[in-house]
Amino acid sequence: MFKQPELPYALSDLSPVLSEETLKFHYGIHEKTYIDNLNKLIVGTPFEQKTLEEIITGSNGPIFNNAAQTYNHIFYFECFSVQGGGMPDGALLDAIKSTFGSFEKFQEIFETEGTKLFGSGWVWLVKDEKESLSIMATGNAGNPLTNRLSPILCFDLWEHAYYIDYRNRRAEYLHKLWDIVDWNKISQRFAK
Ligand code: MN
Repeated sequence: MFKQPELPYALSDLSPVLSEETLKFHYGIHEKTYIDNLNKLIVGTPFEQKTLEEIITGSNGPIFNNAAQTYNHIFYFECFSVQGGGMPDGALLDAIKSTFGSFEKFQEIFETEGTKLFGSGWVWLVKDEKESLSIMATGNAGNPLTNRLSPILCFDLWEHAYYIDYRNRRAEYLHKLWDIVDWNKISQRFAK
């Protein structure tokens, strides 16, 4: 049984970038539903004893979709903090600069990839086994673990993530999210 983790902030803390109403629906209903569905689907299957990562890399169909959406949402909500924003420092900043040219260029490519993806999905900063960074977008429930890549940062591209606050303006939503990114958390993931 997977349990929905608490958010590392109050529902109203990320406003106005993400409103309390958005988090009420996105965390309270969307994320919770994926977890409830996953728990129902794995009853009596070998996946009952597995980790989320193992389910994502070993399943397909509804079990994959709900496991990946559970992972992706938990990972997404943990990207943010009340004290977020600014830019990373140390090893992560060095890696971003050497890969993308500058932090600003990285942000621009990340936003463009997120805006370009047709339909629902996710945009990710990932690292490979050699610690090389790249940006990728995945459709629907897609998750980089299935390509043997480790997620560092993700922005949700499903309309439910932004429609209450930004209507159809996905690009504006993506641009505003930088103001709440918790770079301490992202740096810890990069260092792992
Ligand atoms: Mn979502």
